[in-house]
Amino acid sequence: MTVPCVAVARERGEAVRARLAEADVLDGDHQIVVDDGTIYLPVTDPAGLPDRLADRVVERDVAARDRQRTPADVLGFEPSLERLGDIVIVDEDDPSRARAIADAVMASDLSCTTVLDRASPIEGAHRVREWDVLAGEDTETVHREYGHAFALDVARVYFSPRLATERHRVTTQVSAGECVVDMFAGVGPYAIPMADRGADVVACDVNEVAVAYLRENAARNGVEDRVTTVVGDVRATTDAYADTADRLVMNLPHSADDFLETAVSLASDECVLHYYDIQHDADPFGPGRRAIQEAAGSTYDVSVETERVVRSYAPHEENVCLDVRLTRR
Ligand code: SAM
Repeated sequence: MTVPCVAVARERGEAVRARLAEADVLDGDHQIVVDDGTIYLPVTDPAGLPDRLADRVVERDVAARDRQRTPADVLGFEPSLERLGDIVIVDEDDPSRARAIADAVMASDLSCTTVLDRASPIEGAHRVREWDVLAGEDTETVHREYGHAFALDVARVYFSPRLATERHRVTTQVSAGECVVDMFAGVGPYAIPMADRGADVVACDVNEVAVAYLRENAARNGVEDRVTTVVGDVRATTDAYADTADRLVMNLPHSADDFLETAVSLASDECVLHYYDIQHDADPFGPGRRAIQEAAGSTYDVSVETERVVRSYAPHEENVCLDVRLTRR
């Protein structure tokens, strides 16, 4: 059976192996192979590779290694688990089943310090949830996504690893020299990759803990010179950036329409707006389209470039994104 491998010159093997291990994408179930001066490093998730290594992925027949013990080996069934750095998240309504899964995670060879179960919906202005701590105690971790590292405390800030693909779709549209305003930046999963592509980013959040992590993450990823942080309600704290934004990110899907007046005031003469929304599946894009048109008024022409369902949010409710170009008349 073939598996995806990063193929590099043998001399670079150890350096690349260390980078893949750090990014948590090295496939420990398959053997590393050297063939004619090239080393083949099996990887678990080609989508999670830093850009420069993503170009070097080939399919290759490599032998399996002795497998490590998984939670499924312990339980006898495959549990639904989510990884956030070295935290494992279970999503179980039944406390005894959650307990059994947590015990199996800790008994397995999975590298994990803490097991959490969701104890409340995401709530409040900071969009944070309560957690049941099933094993370990530390809710702070460092999560890696598409080659960037994000420190965060899942009990004090918003972060969803499920949005990785969507964030990558948006961040790869950014060109060097753009001015971006990320109106609801969290710990920086849009702002930091955008700055890494050469944009100057103003990143705002009302949660001061999230902004503290954002600053730490900008330094951690070497982009602190291109990220300006703002703490507070974006409607009251970003006047200094009026008319500057070539791109706006609005990832506050339940209430983004309350912030469209501010978004329009931040836009430069030509601005792309990434507008996230949660709506009924009968018309998931219409309310956003109409709200943006109304906020733009006669100041901007509005052209909707992409309408995309990001994920199903609840029965008959979709989390969507509209990519919209505003062009000053
Ligand atoms: N963009 C980040 C991400 O993808 O992880 C965070 C998105 S989270 C859904 C929304 C963020 O908006 C939260 O971090 C919350 O604290 C922040 N927020 C809520 N109301 C705000 C406001 N009025 N002004 C600025 N930030 C706000």
